[in-house]
Amino acid sequence: MRTDTPVSVKLENYTPYPFAIEQAELDFSLEPEATRVRTKMMVKRLAPGAFVLDGVGLTLNGISIDGQPLGDGDYKVDEETLTIASVPDAFELETDVTINPKANTALSGLYISAGRFCSQCEATGFRRITYWPDRPDVMSRFHVRMDADKAKYPILLSNGTPSKTGDLSDGRHFAEWDDPHPKPSYLFALCAGDYDVWRDTFTTMNGDHVDLGVYVDKGQAKRAEWAMESLKASMKWDEERFGRAYDLGVFNIVAVRDFNFGAMENKGLNIFNSAYVLASPDSATDADFEAIESIVGHEYFHNWTGNRITCRDWFQLCLKEGLTVFRDQEFSSDLRSRPVQRIKDVMTLRARQFAEDAGPLAHPVRPQAYGSIDNLYTATVYVKGAELIRALTVLIGDDAFNKGMQIYFDEFDGTASTIEDFYSCFEKASGKDLSQFRLWYAQAGTPEVTVEEAWDEANATLTLKLSQTTPATPEQDTKKPVPIPLRTALLDGNGGHVPAEGWENGETVIALEEAEKTVTVKVPDGSHRPLLSINRQFSAPIRLKRDLDQAALLELAAAETDPFNIWDSFQSLAKAEIFRLLDEPQSPPDEALVTALADAVRQNEQDPAFAALLTVLPDIGELFQERDPADPAGLDAARKRLRKALAEEMASDAERILAKPSPEPFAPTPDQAGTRAMRTAMIGLTGAKGTPEAASSLKALFDGASNMTESLACLRALISIPGKPRDEAISTFYETWKDNPLVIDKWFAVQAGQGTADDARRLSQHPDFDLSNPNRVRSVAAAFAMTNLAAFHAPDGDGHRVIGDIVARIDKLNPALAARLLTSFEQWKKLEPKARASAETVLTNLRAAGLSQNAMDIVARALD
Ligand SMILES: [Zn+2]
Repeated sequence: MRTDTPVSVKLENYTPYPFAIEQAELDFSLEPEATRVRTKMMVKRLAPGAFVLDGVGLTLNGISIDGQPLGDGDYKVDEETLTIASVPDAFELETDVTINPKANTALSGLYISAGRFCSQCEATGFRRITYWPDRPDVMSRFHVRMDADKAKYPILLSNGTPSKTGDLSDGRHFAEWDDPHPKPSYLFALCAGDYDVWRDTFTTMNGDHVDLGVYVDKGQAKRAEWAMESLKASMKWDEERFGRAYDLGVFNIVAVRDFNFGAMENKGLNIFNSAYVLASPDSATDADFEAIESIVGHEYFHNWTGNRITCRDWFQLCLKEGLTVFRDQEFSSDLRSRPVQRIKDVMTLRARQFAEDAGPLAHPVRPQAYGSIDNLYTATVYVKGAELIRALTVLIGDDAFNKGMQIYFDEFDGTASTIEDFYSCFEKASGKDLSQFRLWYAQAGTPEVTVEEAWDEANATLTLKLSQTTPATPEQDTKKPVPIPLRTALLDGNGGHVPAEGWENGETVIALEEAEKTVTVKVPDGSHRPLLSINRQFSAPIRLKRDLDQAALLELAAAETDPFNIWDSFQSLAKAEIFRLLDEPQSPPDEALVTALADAVRQNEQDPAFAALLTVLPDIGELFQERDPADPAGLDAARKRLRKALAEEMASDAERILAKPSPEPFAPTPDQAGTRAMRTAMIGLTGAKGTPEAASSLKALFDGASNMTESLACLRALISIPGKPRDEAISTFYETWKDNPLVIDKWFAVQAGQGTADDARRLSQHPDFDLSNPNRVRSVAAAFAMTNLAAFHAPDGDGHRVIGDIVARIDKLNPALAARLLTSFEQWKKLEPKARASAETVLTNLRAAGLSQNAMDIVARALD
């Protein structure tokens, strides 16, 4: 270990907190530069030990026990803790501190955004507000009182339900909030300021009345309507699907422009990045409406999976996140199209999590150690965590899963739990020993499953030889086999299944639990050789290795009955073709493949959302993982050649589809969104032709677009065709939307996502670029480094330097954001030699220049 690697926290060192704090009273006197926080806590000893509280950046004005002020010698304060060596077994502690929200640029704790107070406490922000045992296993009932200038901060919000309000002297007023549910400090929230609010109500399945409010910028209330509709749909869905009702009389959402995350599930007072609240037909895309629905659902579902049952320690983060992502994916599947949702979720998994799993930042879904807690909010914990729940449902079946969830809610309500607690419920429900399944949580890396087939014509049996391996990852050289549930069917080639012996409806789940397994399937005598459809619906998060040539894959794609596997067959075909084009730069794209792909798109036009996904070729981030060394610029060029061939093949389809009018009036319904998805796919293909004629027809569509989905699609398609139409579209879009920051974020992202390093640098010097706003920073830096790999990893190293410079500047203000951007270097060791050298230089220079603990944690692991 290097000396500059942050000290790591280890799961094996967990010990319970030796005190209980059942009740706490917080009293805030809100002033932007000097907020006073007085805290009263009722403490009871549970075990021997010193009384230690966390606290960072607090000015301590006074401290007392049972009303007796403590002297300097009675306690010790350092940069991170307050320790009282000797305390009674039961006592009341009072502290009085001052904090400076206005100076808080890290956006953790209490801070100011657009002149209003807001908070973010997960994971360790509460210690920046007051002295407290800031760990999830200390659960307390909070009573909050706050006072503030009434004119500047007319609305005062916290967790729970409001109890008292009133006016004070000097133009100030106060409000009190009471939360009857014990909660850990990371779920504390406070917002104060002037807002407009969109209100509604909900009656729970128990007949309880709930007041709902979405608080937004002045004049923006109408743009909160979709978030409110999504909230009511979420409340209803959790009742119907999991039997869980809301448990307070008030549920509020507050939209904040400066926010490090998507949203935060604070009890009764969710705080959202405004990008996931505000939407109107003219300024939001279908993807925005979908994201709002899904994130509002996610945060609401946390009320049961996260808030009422929370995590014992941060190593168990996947307990609330993996499970809640699974729940929000199910919610979206039920509201929209299940196969389309599944494909989109797997695209995210492959592009983000598989990449993470294959690089130096790989870690298990439940890690054994961490250097910086903020860096644990990863694709592995969230997305692979959700895949494991899904794999569990396949392995034990829906009934046992649903029963297990009810046992979990009943047995662990009101507690801080672990992965072991969670799995004990499914062992009870299914009668199965799930200890081997829990290995999935302990081992990093993506398992690879190889499938070999042998057909015995005489006996009408198909023999499958299955084997699994998981590649080595940092600190884990060898891996054990994990249980892999493979949903499998035999296809007859005529759109049906071959009735295999012992399989219901020609389908089964093969559980591959060992390193190797042979399965022999008997089909009716006289059958032709059936085609194998395996890992249907992507039933396990693995890489599948099958030795199928193009002809066999095309035959399989034509015979498939599972929409996911139809899409995936074409992904495999496209991937192989892109690799071939990279290796044979003189050879033209394969006509048979291009025609088959275009035909598949046409055949599925009645399900346009699905057909649109068929036109999306595997992205560079995914292709990258299968090349060593990887040449992103070469892959990008090969991918563009294939895409251009598809665009030419589908030129008349594109014309036909785009000649029809876009659905009017706009509604964010799945039906309309599907139609627009197909239209935007055709807009994208038109752009892939790259001709001046394509540019002028795109410009005409851009000028006539009546919704943001298509307007942005035209702009995106035009970006890669230099010329007057492109330049005009860029400036028209900016002039039209310059007063709408969320739309201008898109304007930045669409250019950074396709331009050169120079473009990214120019955008980062634009007057509207703002280092203090995470959305704006991400719209340039993350769009460039995480979605434009060909330019980011260009051999001249300029892309790496642009991001290195931005990170160095951000790190001084917002370490969590800087660390997140640095993860874009996670694949640097796989790059071709020139880009690899430049990435190493940038990382080494950053390390030498000195960084925050968050950023240093990523750099040290990346360089290790
Ligand atoms: Zn979450």
